Amino acid sequence: MTADSVAVVGGGLAGLVAARRLATGGADVTLFERRDSVGGRVRTEHREGFTLDRGFQVLFTGYPAVRTELDLDALDLRYFTPGAVIARPGSRSTLSDPLRDPQSALASLRNHEVTQTDKVRTLLLRQDVGTRTEVEIFRSADKSIREYLREWGFSESYIENFVAPFYGGITLDRSLSTSKRVFEYTFKSLSEGRIALPARGMQAIPEQLADAARSAGASIRLGERVVDVTDHDDGVTIEVEGDAITADAVVVATDPKTARQLTGTDSIPTATRSCVTQHYRLPSEIAPTTGRKLLLNAGDPSPNTIVPMSEVAPEYAPDGAALLNATFLEDAAFDRDEAALAEETRLTLESWYPDRDFEELAPVRTHRIEFAQFDQPPGIHEELPDVRAPGGRTYLAGDYTAWSSIQGAMRSGREAARAVQRDR
Ligand SMILES: Cc1cc2nc3c(=O)[nH]c(=O)nc-3n(C[C@H](O)[C@H](O)[C@H](O)COP(=O)(O)OP(=O)(O)OC[C@H]3O[C@@H](n4cnc5c(N)ncnc54)[C@H](O)[C@@H]3O)c2cc1C
Repeated sequence: MTADSVAVVGGGLAGLVAARRLATGGADVTLFERRDSVGGRVRTEHREGFTLDRGFQVLFTGYPAVRTELDLDALDLRYFTPGAVIARPGSRSTLSDPLRDPQSALASLRNHEVTQTDKVRTLLLRQDVGTRTEVEIFRSADKSIREYLREWGFSESYIENFVAPFYGGITLDRSLSTSKRVFEYTFKSLSEGRIALPARGMQAIPEQLADAARSAGASIRLGERVVDVTDHDDGVTIEVEGDAITADAVVVATDPKTARQLTGTDSIPTATRSCVTQHYRLPSEIAPTTGRKLLLNAGDPSPNTIVPMSEVAPEYAPDGAALLNATFLEDAAFDRDEAALAEETRLTLESWYPDRDFEELAPVRTHRIEFAQFDQPPGIHEELPDVRAPGGRTYLAGDYTAWSSIQGAMRSGREAARAVQRDR
């Protein structure tokens, strides 16, 4: 490599943003990705005419990095409507944001799953977080989401019936033991933007970033796993299976466990949150329609949510069929076979829609995702490593330097690129 050469290890969102920004700044950038496609945790499969994201994942358009790093028009977004349907055996009720979804305002006002006081407190909370920035929220005194909501005076029924399945689905922690900062920031982002799916699937996001990185001059080498990184006086040696390359700097943008192995940085967190998402086909005439909202399981934690994917993004299913998915958060779901998970989803749907028969619900694919996010207990964010933590010419990029999300990963990629540029 020539002067000002930078190697990036890992083609997830953080690595791709770093590569694009470094190449735009004039560096000679080579990105190594061990898989045969970019995206890391944000990936999509296409099977039997269905578009299957790896796990239930969505794009929050309110995230600042989403607005600065992505061309949202080119992603051809399909939108959920704000709010959710709270479901339990024999009952389904809509809870929405009356300011942003006026059509559901009356149904929300009549919703008996939460109290009128909760609805007022939600508006006050929105005002409170609306005035604070990401940095302020992630530096604020911390506690669990459950404690935080109790201190705000929310009712137990609001916490259990709405927050536990909805934000439990975002944090992959229905117990609400996660840092309240994640709740505050995602709550703020949901008030300021929308939840969306790219028409071609979530992997369209990293593919767009990869195209932009290539256009800026970066070279992206797929199917090349980096096995060692050595920082020395006159550069960094990156050992790829069967080859060794020298660069002026390296950005290690792998998953946290690999980043710890490659850089020896002990402050990289390795505890994880996992989930199982199963995707189903149904004839479109019997698929439940929710007005493009998630179905939250208020009565039982399993499955946590059921989502009418093709109602939101019709491109996700072939003609005549509908695509739903169900996400299971408890560890026991990993031990249950495909048929047992599908049977649980079928029985859950039949209890929510007692006048319908879901015999034709058929699993298309089951994603068992051991590592979806790093665990974020209260107080973890101040312990996370800085992008310069390894020292020398080795830098880190990954959600684990900020917080576990698309926003955290893309922000980290930008910060790593900026650190490399400033240290030149
Ligand atoms: C099921 C699921 C649901 C989610 N839902 C949401 C959501 O709705 N909204 C949201 O904001 N966030 C969500 N997230 C979190 C979000 O996807 C992640 O925080 C983000 O994608 C992390 O990006 P990253 O670049 O930091 O890491 P990763 O995506 O883990 O990328 C690391 C990359 O490094 C590569 N790599 C690893 N080792 C090597 C090596 N030795 N050599 C070369 N390459 C290597 C990997 O293959 C991978 O491509 C979800 C995640 C999952 C899995």
